[in-house]
Amino acid sequence: MIDTAAFQGKTAKFYTLGCKLNFSETSTFARTLYNMGVREAKKTEQADICLINTCSVTEVADHKCRQIIHRMVRQNPGAFVIVTGCYAQLESATVAKIEGVDLVLGSNEKADLVQYLSDAWNKVDSAKEEAQEGEYHSVKTKDIKSFQASCSRGNRTRYFLKVQDGCNYFCTYCTIPFARGFSRNPTIQSLVAQAEEAAKEGGKEIVLTGVNIGDFGKTTGESFLDLVKALDKVEGIQRYRISSLEPDLIDDDLIAYCAESRAFVPHFHIPLQSGSDEVLKLMHRRYDTQLFAHKIRLIKEKMPKAFIGVDVMVGSRGERPEYFEDCYNFLNSLPITQLHVFPYSERPGTAALSIPYVVDDREKKHRAHKLLKLSDEKTRAFYAEHIGQEANVLFEKAARGKAMHGFTDNYIRVELSPAQAKEEYDNQILRVRLGEFNFDQSSLKADLL
Ligand code: SF4
Repeated sequence: MIDTAAFQGKTAKFYTLGCKLNFSETSTFARTLYNMGVREAKKTEQADICLINTCSVTEVADHKCRQIIHRMVRQNPGAFVIVTGCYAQLESATVAKIEGVDLVLGSNEKADLVQYLSDAWNKVDSAKEEAQEGEYHSVKTKDIKSFQASCSRGNRTRYFLKVQDGCNYFCTYCTIPFARGFSRNPTIQSLVAQAEEAAKEGGKEIVLTGVNIGDFGKTTGESFLDLVKALDKVEGIQRYRISSLEPDLIDDDLIAYCAESRAFVPHFHIPLQSGSDEVLKLMHRRYDTQLFAHKIRLIKEKMPKAFIGVDVMVGSRGERPEYFEDCYNFLNSLPITQLHVFPYSERPGTAALSIPYVVDDREKKHRAHKLLKLSDEKTRAFYAEHIGQEANVLFEKAARGKAMHGFTDNYIRVELSPAQAKEEYDNQILRVRLGEFNFDQSSLKADLL
């Protein structure tokens, strides 16, 4: 039982690090607390509750988590501090030792966060006096089974619907399966109900999030394609984006369905990680460059205007200069739109540490720079192809007197001048003609039709 009366009038601050999944979970916690009478504290105000949802994707992320926790504790003296997320799962004892942390919840406990908070809240005074260390709850990876349902509005117009959690792949550089457990998902029926709820609240666009979304169905004996078909029927939702799909799990049938679907937009985000078959083998990825190229070409054949974002890691162990060259040439040859480039980071406990060839930091930066330049060229060419064309744009809230921004279905950022912008365009899909690049080259200017 949660004693909501104890929380009436309290204030909370939230800090999220990492992926869209974490952001979606944090906003669900925030909404639950809001329904219990807790309001979000202003920046300058000291909060009664601080929640930090952590990430552990790199060493830098770990360091940043510790910094944020220290800062939240320092800026909110006496607040009840909860830390959850991947870093809290992997390093629960370390986090619990940080002065001022009251509760550390691993990935399995996340789903019951509010119950844990309520239980701990009741004994907070005595616990604060006695304990120098926070209380922590986390179980081993194999026992992480819970699923925290989560569909909430992000900072802008989009909703984030969590359709899956965990991963069974164990790529050699990755700690996610240790932090989030094995793949699991809720039923299609429950996800459709959440999408209907978002539509009732006025939601127009939903981003499907998860760790390995294409693996959807493991728990329920359903398939990702069935989920896509069911969500496509939800009235009121006009756009769905799929946040990321492993190349080997993008069925040709899924591509064909998206091309004909009512609301799934021509926008894909695919983690390639390396364009060298040698490196893909070292990473234990489950596809080769040939399969990847086939998926990209099929997407472009069925949806010529599709925006395709690709994740690439540079400087991973074993990436010799000639393999990086292969990667660069492969990416250059493909009709993709944008690269998300990540320098490899050593993670304790991963199999990649046994690969002897190491790339130094300077070389990693050089490789990242080269790929980012390629990415800029490709994105710019993609935008330029659309100048003069008509498009539908979902506009986002803007300050009065400022330009409004929004995205086309194929993810081109669009700018509407202050003279054309109107408050009521927020969260509206409007028809525009796309013009030239704006002053900082981040968007195309648009005229309403
Ligand atoms: S597919 Fe590989 S990289 Fe992605 S979460 Fe799973 S183990 Fe990590």
